[in-house]
Amino acid sequence: MKKQKLTILGAGESGVGAALLAKQKGFEVFVSDQGKISYNYKKSLINNTIKWEEGQHTESQITTATTVVKSPGIPDQAPLVQKLIKKGIPVISEIEFASKYTDANTIGITGSNGKTTTTALTHHILKKAGLNVEKAGNIGDSFARSVANHHFDHYVLELSSFQLDGIQTFAPHIAVITNITPDHLDRYDYNFENYIASKFRITKNQTQDDYLIYDADDSVIENYLKSHPIKSRLLPFSVTKHIENGACLKHKNIQITIDNTQIIMPTNTIALRGQHNVKNAMAASTVSHLLKIRKNTIRESLENFEGVEHRLEHVLRINKVQYINDSKATNVNATYFALESMDAPTVWIVGGEDKGNDYTELFPFVNEKVKAIICLGVNNEKLFANFANMVDVIVETEYMSEAIKIAYNIAKAGDNVLLSPACASFDLFKNYEDRGNQFKAAIRQL
Ligand code: ADP
Repeated sequence: MKKQKLTILGAGESGVGAALLAKQKGFEVFVSDQGKISYNYKKSLINNTIKWEEGQHTESQITTATTVVKSPGIPDQAPLVQKLIKKGIPVISEIEFASKYTDANTIGITGSNGKTTTTALTHHILKKAGLNVEKAGNIGDSFARSVANHHFDHYVLELSSFQLDGIQTFAPHIAVITNITPDHLDRYDYNFENYIASKFRITKNQTQDDYLIYDADDSVIENYLKSHPIKSRLLPFSVTKHIENGACLKHKNIQITIDNTQIIMPTNTIALRGQHNVKNAMAASTVSHLLKIRKNTIRESLENFEGVEHRLEHVLRINKVQYINDSKATNVNATYFALESMDAPTVWIVGGEDKGNDYTELFPFVNEKVKAIICLGVNNEKLFANFANMVDVIVETEYMSEAIKIAYNIAKAGDNVLLSPACASFDLFKNYEDRGNQFKAAIRQL
């Protein structure tokens, strides 16, 4: 029988993972990357005798594939992708491909903010409970690489909207949507509705035996569900209202009710701070309760989960000033929760590549908690226009080391210095990790 031909566009973690899995499953595999393939990935393609090219897409090779796996970074609108779709060749994501080769229980987590934190926290609880579980997707190894190399009973998958755009049959048994706020609209024809629909694809193939856990305080999610009923069972969580079936707050405790079984856990011992992390804890605990994990294991895991780097990460305390790295806050909503969680006067480092931000929802927190603003971006006009009349001190710089020196001089004992940019990092840094690492390095040099 002729081998099935799988072509992979993009040789990043997901592409190379898909290539390794496809090779193992007997496909004829070809990997094509328009850019340069990094050294380690190239090595693993060569070691596994997988055909590849870089710096080009040879169309004659690609358009003869039975199936194409496309990296989430390549938009559907790319001419080559359009050509494949017109020819009727299925173009899928690595998540779709990998899901065909595992019968593990899958938990899929998507949303605009909180995916990584909720995925890591859920994985942490399940692992503490002794389950044979792995986290994958946008976090750690790609799903396909993990399926090729290991056998796990449970997967907690962090899923971006781009990965969900490329699914056809993939159906997580438990889906989580943390929240939906405008993001990546350039990939969705600048239409928020398209982006919302993309997030909800996580429920597309679910049945009435599956679950959707979601933030019931998020009006975008609530409204979408009203007009687009879904098959899976709904388990909402809320920090503002009572929830019959799902999670809510009762006297500062998290109360989770599923089919008349109830668990109650304190919020004041959760290691992660901030209202948004109570929501993330609710989502992760609801997953855990569904999987029948003991309440004490969930509670202890919430108490000792250390958080993820660059997300409200407490770096150092110097002269009684707390320095906090929230470099991953690349949109206004993430920064909203960072400022909301500040419990002391705050010197706020903000700015970068503005993605069409509307800062209005931050005004109350800035008025109440922010004593000085340090704008760290190439173009800071919009920040000055929004905030100059709210604080006594507002300055700008293009250097992290200078930003930290200024913050050090302004902050008094008891204050916080918070990096929560609300913007992308690409004007001055390689990426948000580079920005966060430079922040930490500059603090350590004080
Ligand atoms: P994602 O993987 O979706 O980008 P992260 O967990 O990496 O989410 O967090 C990104 C940013 O959003 C961080 O600044 C973090 O503090 C903030 N954040 C985390 N959880 C939430 C939430 N539930 N709602 C809003 N912001 C959040």
